[in-house]
Amino acid sequence: MELDCTAVIADVWLMLDGECDESTRARLQHHMDTCSPCIEAYGIEEKIKGLLSRKCGGDRAPDSLRDRLTLEIRKSVTVTRIETTEA
Ligand SMILES: [Zn+2]
Repeated sequence: MELDCTAVIADVWLMLDGECDESTRARLQHHMDTCSPCIEAYGIEEKIKGLLSRKCGGDRAPDSLRDRLTLEIRKSVTVTRIETTEA
């Protein structure tokens, strides 16, 4: 079964906008364990880990982290879309 890296980014969005969701957290953690290159490619692995621990620790993600993640994700998704369109 192929790993769906696009779904991971969608899960990151869910984590950003929602509460700590155990199934979402588990999916992200599993993906980072089995497909770390894609998270590393986004350059947000450490940020996601921090986000997970903060969210699941009951704290709000700081706005600076949220802004940074939003920028990285938007950039990544845009690049992916362009590559997909041209391919
Ligand atoms: Zn992946």
